[in-house]
Amino acid sequence: MNEYHRPELLAIDPVGCGCTECITGEYVPLDEASFDQIDLMLAGVLADNTGATKEQLAAALVKLATPQELAERYLTVLGR
Ligand SMILES: [Zn+2]
Repeated sequence: MNEYHRPELLAIDPVGCGCTECITGEYVPLDEASFDQIDLMLAGVLADNTGATKEQLAAALVKLATPQELAERYLTVLGR
């Protein structure tokens, strides 16, 4: 049985951040975040410490997600 438990992710930090929380896993830098993690941040579940503009967030999502995934999220938001 693995005794190590990764701390629960609380926030997304700016690109390239190397603070203590990013090292211990409580936060993750934007450039290392997954599509699902950014999605949770945009939904307000994770705190947004990124300081990123809308354009920078869009670029991060486009880099991580397939067009199919982006289309499905878009339709979900629109309730279809
Ligand atoms: Zn950090």
